[in-house]
Amino acid sequence: VQFSKLRLSGFKSFVDPTEMVIHPGMTGIVGPNGCGKSNLLEALRWVMGETSAKLIRGSEMDDVIFAGTSTRPSRNLAEVSLVLDNSQRLAPVAFNDHAELEISRRIEREAGSAYRINGKEVRARDVHLLFADASVGARSPALVGQGRIGAIINSKARDRRAILEEAAGIAGLHSRRHEAELRLKAAEGNLVRVDDVMGQLT
Ligand code: ATP
Repeated sequence: VQFSKLRLSGFKSFVDPTEMVIHPGMTGIVGPNGCGKSNLLEALRWVMGETSAKLIRGSEMDDVIFAGTSTRPSRNLAEVSLVLDNSQRLAPVAFNDHAELEISRRIEREAGSAYRINGKEVRARDVHLLFADASVGARSPALVGQGRIGAIINSKARDRRAILEEAAGIAGLHSRRHEAELRLKAAEGNLVRVDDVMGQLT
């Protein structure tokens, strides 16, 4: 799947509705210090489900909402939408009947955030899995911030393996395996209980 558009409104310094068209291939963002380059990358991570406020340079999630300047009042709402071009039908099966997918996340001050896929409300987990299966995601190595290249080169073998696994598209499988293991454990617990009850009956 190809990212085709990023729309922001009220997100960090992007207070007015802003649309960025993303063309195929590698995208670089250039501009003077403080113009909002990192904020754009953070918007992309945020809409893909980033849950750590720290990783998008805030102390809490509400910090992504435009905080106001000396000339403009603050906002109570931030919204980011990411449009994916799925004309090649490469999205995970559950979403593959759409030629275009629009994932949006919206946050209201003190009320938390909500996600939508093509206008339909979904859980954060659905968004995480959609991107994990598409081999991208909030923590994807495809998003390279300042200093990241050095960090990848200097990272430990184990961390580098995680990066390669994500790039290879198996991060979603790991997450499903973890869930399956938890369910298996719960089922085993139930079996032990059934054995106990049978033991008492006989
Ligand atoms: P640099 O090259 O210095 O890293 P940059 O182009 O990456 O800069 P960012 O760090 O993305 O810029 O943008 C920083 C700007 O965003 C600052 O001017 C900061 O005041 C503004 N900003 C960040 N969060 C908010 C917010 N919640 N509300 C309003 N403005 C914000």
